[in-house]
Amino acid sequence: MGTMGTTNKKRSFFSQKICRFCADKAEYIDFHDVKALKPLISERGKIVPSRISGNCAKHQRQLTNAIKRARNIALLPFAVEH
Ligand SMILES: [Zn+2]
Repeated sequence: MGTMGTTNKKRSFFSQKICRFCADKAEYIDFHDVKALKPLISERGKIVPSRISGNCAKHQRQLTNAIKRARNIALLPFAVEH
């Protein structure tokens, strides 16, 4: 129970961007395609949130899986946590 501040969630405020995978008509994301994945990973190796990358929910989910797979086979670095 707490009313700390006001949470005004303005939906679709930043949603002018188009999902790059939808634009590409990609049915699935190839986790071997490091060039496609790299821009979607932050410097610390974290996955860029969909609201920033502009990806749709469907592809963001696939992307998350693709990045996890890529990490497993050491194509991409794990998130660095200090
Ligand atoms: Zn999409």
